[in-house]
Amino acid sequence: MAYKDRKRIMELVASKDLFLLDGDGTLYLWDKAYNGSNLFIKKLKELKKNFIILSNNDSQSKENRLKLLSKELGIKFEENQLLLPNDIIEDFMLKKHIKRFDGLISEDLKKELSKKGFIADIKRPEIIIIGFDVDLNYKKLIRVITHINNGVKFILTHSDPLCPYKNKQEIPDAGLMVNMVSEATKKTPSNKFGKPYKSTINYIIKKYGCNRGNMLIIGDRINTDIKMAVENDISSIWITGGKRTNPVNYYPTESVSSIGELYNIIKMM
Ligand SMILES: [Mg+2]
Repeated sequence: MAYKDRKRIMELVASKDLFLLDGDGTLYLWDKAYNGSNLFIKKLKELKKNFIILSNNDSQSKENRLKLLSKELGIKFEENQLLLPNDIIEDFMLKKHIKRFDGLISEDLKKELSKKGFIADIKRPEIIIIGFDVDLNYKKLIRVITHINNGVKFILTHSDPLCPYKNKQEIPDAGLMVNMVSEATKKTPSNKFGKPYKSTINYIIKKYGCNRGNMLIIGDRINTDIKMAVENDISSIWITGGKRTNPVNYYPTESVSSIGELYNIIKMM
């Protein structure tokens, strides 16, 4: 990378206070951290930058995800340094005074919601949650479709159809689950959360008391990370993963091939 490109990236990093870091595909791949992730986050801490790992992955409870990430990345994270759709749907349900839920969500997320005072109710739910259901089964699918056909509203934790997985594979995610449900019921979710939706940025601004001009989004997906940046006037760095194709429609402020490369650029700061 040319010296002037490196200089521009350093200036961009220096000028921002809150870093929104994508997880899967940027810092780690499923359960393995990429080279440089640990050093990059340590460098941010040294530079006194605030950061949030902003992931769309709600396949686990926040508690278990935090434990896993702390282990993977070799860094002890605070609760507010990880933001999942879990946090945003809990906030939504609290605000709307919704208690009883059912849905296509993992057993782990279901347990988390129950711990927070929500009630898993397969008979009379007030809301159906569609998420990254790694415990999907046919009975559950029929039940959820029946509730929606009977008029219960449904919300979507995030829209990604596929999640990056080991061996360059991608596995079915919430976006595919909701396609099944929408096909079957001819209905669409009343609310969508996670990246790239504005509700996520609004939640961050309110919870962390910061403004768009101080944020920097770093992520590997044009249609979520970079789209959210562009639509909200937030600067961004695209982690290309060595892809040769240029982004279409949504253009990042800067791009690098990996988090390791980004660390190499900022390590002398
Ligand atoms: Mg990603």
